[in-house]
Amino acid sequence: MRIDMARCINCDACLRHCPPRFGAIFNHGVDVVILPELCSGCGKCLPPVCPVDCIVADPDWSPSPEDWWALPLGADDPYAAADA
Ligand code: SF4
Ligand code: SF4
Repeated sequence: MRIDMARCINCDACLRHCPPRFGAIFNHGVDVVILPELCSGCGKCLPPVCPVDCIVADPDWSPSPEDWWALPLGADDPYAAADA
């Protein structure tokens, strides 16, 4: 899955609904991003969770940029508490 950043309103609802065992959605600067390597395709981030329906299937996905990998287990990892 991929977030259409042109339509995303950065509400973080998807991030709160992504199951911690996948933990695929992160704040990255002003953007909200999905690391496709971590996404299971479970759909829990889709509407009605995402209010603007801007999370789309991306069969031609590209690997996450290297700097995105600093987000999982980083200082602001929103899923870290669930693992404690
Ligand atoms: S489809 Fe599931 S695993 Fe992928 S980003 Fe959405 S909630 Fe997370
Ligand atoms: S729920 Fe939708 S609008 Fe909100 S941050 Fe996630 S992708 Fe963006």
